[in-house]
Amino acid sequence: MSFQSLGLSEALLKAVSKKGYTTPSPIQQKAIPPVLDGKDVLASAQTGTGKTAGFTLPLLHILSENPKEKYRPIRALILTPTRELAAQVYANVREYSEFLNLRSAVIFGGVNQKPQVSTIRQGVDILVATPGRLLDLQNQGLLSLKRVEIFVLDEADRMLDMGFLRDIEKVIKSMPEKRQNLMFSATFSKDIKKLAHGILNNPVQVEATPENTTVEAISQKVYRVAKGLKTGLIIKLISEGNWKQVLVFNRTKHGANKLCEKMIKAGITAAAIHGNKSQGARTKALAGFKTGKVRVLVATDIAARGLDIPLLPHVINFELPNISEDYVHRIGRTGRAGASGEAISLVSADETSFLRAIEKLIEMKLPVEIVEGFEPDPNASTAPIKQGQGRQNRNSRNSNKSRNSSRNPQSNRTGNSRRPKRSNDRRN
Ligand code: AMP
Repeated sequence: MSFQSLGLSEALLKAVSKKGYTTPSPIQQKAIPPVLDGKDVLASAQTGTGKTAGFTLPLLHILSENPKEKYRPIRALILTPTRELAAQVYANVREYSEFLNLRSAVIFGGVNQKPQVSTIRQGVDILVATPGRLLDLQNQGLLSLKRVEIFVLDEADRMLDMGFLRDIEKVIKSMPEKRQNLMFSATFSKDIKKLAHGILNNPVQVEATPENTTVEAISQKVYRVAKGLKTGLIIKLISEGNWKQVLVFNRTKHGANKLCEKMIKAGITAAAIHGNKSQGARTKALAGFKTGKVRVLVATDIAARGLDIPLLPHVINFELPNISEDYVHRIGRTGRAGASGEAISLVSADETSFLRAIEKLIEMKLPVEIVEGFEPDPNASTAPIKQGQGRQNRNSRNSNKSRNSSRNPQSNRTGNSRRPKRSNDRRN
């Protein structure tokens, strides 16, 4: 199937070909036609599937077909859970609309609102926003959603995870009832279905499995190591392997900072990305990582969500997540689009129970290695470490379900119906 056959305008086809895309991804093939038909769509897709173009291309097509007004009201609203995702979606909107007479803007918290307000004042057709800043500006009377024709809720499951349900409801109340709705989510819990039911009108359901992100497609390895030797081991692995683009996961912000400092001391360019970092610092770290200036990006699970970094050769779990599904998400960032990927976990004695829970979820035993000089401590306690960041351990709750779960990260998460609300993480 070609992009031409999807019925997109010449201007959009030109933008798509400028991006170098030749074939629409499965989610694009499935989602674009019903969106162009004006239908509501409920899509099961996560980052890496090409979902952003899946909703942006038809949305731009529809908006550009209608005659433009002199004064541009916001006609499309794309709501995303995190600043990073908002920035990435906006970058995509800009690229795809390059040859169209449409204006767009992005708003999110953590930065001065003035430039955002002044852009909106000049009139924008498409607004990409995180809920916090959107409601903030709305409450100040600085923007109106009364003319919205298309509403996109991106990463709806993350929205709920981050406690944005009330905000979403408020946003919905401020839009006209008659509008087209598109909802994207990686998982379909009871709560998501309820939300979808409240937002969508007779939706067309589409689904896409990301290419090559099945657990089997990723080469996985566990290094058993004493807790105190982890930093030395990770530096050795990265240096000796001459690894160039490594995403390292850490459970805590403090841990991420500390590890980053140590890597830099060892001569490895590294940057940390987490909720306590300013927006500028996060954008800079991500840009440096993408261009290759920064070899190692140390991230917390929440900060890593929505990061658009395709084709990662190496993912390292400096610490295992206490939530097994997060492991699948983390390693899903490697081995994308046919490229080979490697996921490594450094596991100390106190993480043994996390390892067991992960193996149970993915239904496979992970190969274990020990590096000379970085052996595990035989006297260390196997009592689990305290859980970080106020997150509940779902492993025990999910243990029955996990036995039946598929090895695909997407479907692994499908059965995960109740995720804890993380009110602390509302940093948008
Ligand atoms: P997304 O899932 O929207 O975050 O997209 C994941 C990555 O795939 C991004 O880097 C996109 O630029 C890229 N992408 C999207 N659609 C296509 C396509 N049809 N062909 C090749 N790459 C694509």
